[in-house]
Amino acid sequence: MNLSDARLALRDARRVAVLTGAGISAESGIPTFRDAQTGHWARFKPEDLASPDAYYRYPALVWEWYAGRYRDVMAATPNAGHELLARLEREKGDGYFLATQNVDGLHARAGSERLVELHGNLTTARCEVCAHIDALPAPADFVPPPVCSRCGGRMRPNIVWFSEFLPEQALEAASDAFTAADVALIIGTSGVVYPAAGLAFETLERGGTVIEINPDETDLTPRLSFSLRETASRGLAALMDG
Ligand SMILES: [Zn+2]
Repeated sequence: MNLSDARLALRDARRVAVLTGAGISAESGIPTFRDAQTGHWARFKPEDLASPDAYYRYPALVWEWYAGRYRDVMAATPNAGHELLARLEREKGDGYFLATQNVDGLHARAGSERLVELHGNLTTARCEVCAHIDALPAPADFVPPPVCSRCGGRMRPNIVWFSEFLPEQALEAASDAFTAADVALIIGTSGVVYPAAGLAFETLERGGTVIEINPDETDLTPRLSFSLRETASRGLAALMDG
């Protein structure tokens, strides 16, 4: 398959499933977990902060870290890649599905609605008592920990941590969408991180087309229908407007 075939396949597809990873947010300047570990935070490993055990032992420290990540994402803005996917959703309507591994909330801010956030979201918190989810106050007004608006319980970051399972309903929705997809897009994710490979193969096994957009070759590349060696925004522009 070449670029013009891929473009036609996407244009004609009734059902489109998309998976995005860190690559699509890189162009918005979102620091990676490791990039953010400067100064005071440099002595911590990710698993010292992003695990249930860390939160159980040091809830104030873990919240302080996540409040900083929340400020970072709210200071960033969605980029052309996020906006092109929101447009693709408007074009495809009911036939569109987006799953993201990102926790920055930028897809929602760009207008995506048919969206599943597999690893949670930095802009919300989840009640430890009743599991209710609230949006965090604006960064300037936010003093952690947040308190549940429904039951008054303490809330934790709404993030899937090391050793925790991905949300089952979200995974099932993603699996259904990729199985049914005429075209799947795998954008800015290495394919090593579960569940990218599994979702791509569900589409391929049912005869669908899987297109990868990534500046680097990945473990998935040899198995897919077509790969664009581009950033997310340039690759999507080439597919949708080229
Ligand atoms: Zn509650």
